[in-house]
Order: sequence, then structure tokens, then C-alpha cells
Amino acid sequence: MERFADRILAWWDRHGRHDLPWQHPRSPYRVWVSEIMLQQTQVATVIPYFERFVRRFPDLAALADAPLDDVLAHWSGLGYYARARNLHRAARACMAQHGGTVPASAAELEALPGIGASTANAIISQAHDRPLAILDGNVRRVLARHAAVEGWPGQRAVHDRLWAEAESRLPAARGADYTQAIMDLGATLCTRSRPACEACPVSRDCVALARQQVDRLPSPRPGLKVREKNLFVLIQQRDDGAVLLVQRPPAGIWGGLWSLPEADSLEALADRFGLDARSLSTLPSFGHRLTHRKLTIHPACCPPDAATGIQDSRGRWCKREQWQALGIPSPVLRLLECLSEFQG
Ligand code: SF4
Repeated sequence: MERFADRILAWWDRHGRHDLPWQHPRSPYRVWVSEIMLQQTQVATVIPYFERFVRRFPDLAALADAPLDDVLAHWSGLGYYARARNLHRAARACMAQHGGTVPASAAELEALPGIGASTANAIISQAHDRPLAILDGNVRRVLARHAAVEGWPGQRAVHDRLWAEAESRLPAARGADYTQAIMDLGATLCTRSRPACEACPVSRDCVALARQQVDRLPSPRPGLKVREKNLFVLIQQRDDGAVLLVQRPPAGIWGGLWSLPEADSLEALADRFGLDARSLSTLPSFGHRLTHRKLTIHPACCPPDAATGIQDSRGRWCKREQWQALGIPSPVLRLLECLSEFQG
């Protein structure tokens, strides 16, 4: 039987994705940006964000020079904003410590904010065409199933076992293509639910398939608790259409982004601005899911005559063209866009 890597490469040559924007050109900077965007987000979602991001920040120097607000604005909607903050800090570190280049050694890359061992190897293998082990979510799933590795991959022992599996399957050459190929296999065939095993190039020796364990591997995280939270947000709008936004603290959910003023209850929200809760008109609530939290967002509008007098020390009155240029959490952005469309 052909080696694992050869079968995956032959499959990728015929069926893989060869036209992703970060493949042309596959420069270290572009690969790095794409890898950070892809950490918790699917390829189809990332593509338009990537294109917009590299148009605005075409190289390390442009990214390092930009204000953080501008970087967050170009990340707005992708979620997991710590990634954008780390990317920005790392770009500045590359300018200061690495002569304005993305380092080509795993140790130097891992010393930068937001880059772990797998991401470092993914960047080097694709930018410098070297066969190196990676373990992103897609690859973890392929290997956990193909080798039938039991246990949650977040546990050190399980992670180490999967890392060893990844290393033992590397090809001697075509490192960049192999990295893309195994990620593509996980994203398009060996999917979380209903994988297309009949079309898979490594099905003949897939242990999970032979043992009928595909559905339960990789093992889920034991006892993951999702907390529920109610978020009451206040929409204050002046006669000229400007809404009041406040910048969130740098750490925590949506750190550093601009959002509507919020509180845990309608009364607390009204209190914060010296308003009577009964004077606020509520809009329909809606849900938003974060990794460990289920948010229910309850928007409330302030009476128009009360809005112009309201001040908030961290706040900024923004017209549509101004808030469109800020980093805003996606559910809040959707709310502002709906409001703006509704008002014509
Ligand atoms: S045979 Fe199925 S479960 Fe096994 S690696 Fe291929 S797609 Fe994944």
C-alpha cells in the first residue's frame, strides 16, 4: 500500500484547494495572517476577511504601523479578537526584533504572541516548503480517526500521541502541499459529522472506520459547561443619527472592541445613565453563541429627547460611516445595521 502522505498528496493534486488567496503568493506574512484567521474559523468565512486585511495591511510594516483600532476594525465579525491583538503585537515584535521579517525558525515564531507549536510549523512548512507536523482542528480529527486515538485531544497525553502520529506520517518532500492537503482532507472529507469515507484516500487502513468508531472520535471535551448570560444593551441615538458606543476593556469578551453600553439588567442599564427603566422601549431579544457562553442580547432604545444629554467617559458618538470603521462585535454590528436600514 502506498504511504499515507503519498495517498493524501495524490488526492490533493486532483481534488484539493489550489486557489486559496494566501497560496498566491505563499509568502511568510500572508501564510501567517491566514493561519491566525483560520485558527477558529472556516476557510470560506476567512477568505473575504483575508483579502480585505491584506489589502489594507499588505506587509508586516503596514500592520505594525497601524493603530490597534484599525486592525480590530478589519477583524470585526471574525470573532476571537485576541487573535487580532496578538497579530498586531507580534508584527511590532517582528519589526523590532527580527529586522522586519517573519522568523523562519519554530522557536522564534513560538516566542511571538498567539503562535503555538502547530501554527509555527504550519507557517514554516507552507512558506518554506518543509515537511513539519501540524495539529489544527481538522488534522487532529483525521489523525484521531485514522489511528483511532481515544481521549480528548486537549489532554497532554492525547495531544502528544497525536503529535507523534502527525510526525510519523510526514512525506520526505512537498511539505507545503502536504500541510494544505491534510488540512483540506479534514475540512472537506473527514468532517465532524457525516464524513465522506467512501471518497477518502486513506480509508483502507483507517482504524476508526474499520472499528465503526468514526462517529465518536475525536473524543469530546469531558464536561464542558456552557454558561448563559443576559446582556442588556442601550441604543441611544441623537437627532443627527449618531449612536453612543463605548470601548470595552482590553481583556475579556470582545476585548478592545466598540460596543453599545451594556448591563446585566434593564434597571441597571437605565440607572447607569440616570434614566427611568420604564421610559426605555425594548426590541426583540436574540441569541449569540461564544465558545463557553450562550448570550441572550436584549436591546433597549432610549427616548430620543433623552439621548443627546447622555455622556459616558469611555463613549463616543458615532455616525454610520464612523462606526463602520470601528471594530464592533458581530451581533452588535448586525443590530446597528438593522437599525440603520430600518431608518432608511
Ligand atoms: S476513512 Fe473516514 S474517518 Fe477515516 S480518515 Fe477517511 S474520512 Fe476520516
